Amino acid sequence: MSEILPGVHMVEGVDPSPDFSTHVYLLKDRGATWTLIDTGLPGSDKAILAYLQKHKIEPTAIKRILLTHLHKDHTGNLRRMAELTHARTFSHWIEAAFIANRPRYDGPGMPPDDPVSVDETFKDGDPIDAAGGLIACHTPGHTPGHTAYYHPERKLLFSGDLFFGHEGKLILTTADFTHHMQTAQISARRMAQLAVESILSYHGGPFLTKAGGQLRTLTESF
Ligand SMILES: [Zn+2]
Repeated sequence: MSEILPGVHMVEGVDPSPDFSTHVYLLKDRGATWTLIDTGLPGSDKAILAYLQKHKIEPTAIKRILLTHLHKDHTGNLRRMAELTHARTFSHWIEAAFIANRPRYDGPGMPPDDPVSVDETFKDGDPIDAAGGLIACHTPGHTPGHTAYYHPERKLLFSGDLFFGHEGKLILTTADFTHHMQTAQISARRMAQLAVESILSYHGGPFLTKAGGQLRTLTESF
């Protein structure tokens, strides 16, 4: 899989597990630059670099790296990607503290081994000048500062680990990896109020068309 929607690439080969797929997204900005959403486990730089090379994209053309949350399969390769690209790194202010291991996260899922201080933090609703205009949507539950990125013009929702694609169905990420399920349900309901055509999930999926309907069906189940 490569360019799954115009200007939206799903980077191949960063799967940590044969049990579920992992999707690092590369988004074209309005100019000739790019934005990366999440970075994969440590060692994923090789797959990302190979992908960039295949598509003739210079690593330094990536100007921003957006993190959805602290877990190691999203941030483990952050330091390396920041070094290779010189991109500015962004996360929600709560998650920034956990990505820096100050304090070390003690909830479910793997915290980062290699703490990194992100360059910029944001709060819910902040606009991000990337990929033609994204909005940061604080969606706590999976982790306290979990953030989805919404592209209102194109109705795209980069949902991190709020959702999981399981056998073609959109589900909430399960309790064994989630800090607080009821909060995740509330976040999902809030996202269901947005106009959404595509949900770009990190594990499983993505759901490219009519995803808003699937999301509403999901939220009606709890
Ligand atoms: Zn996670």
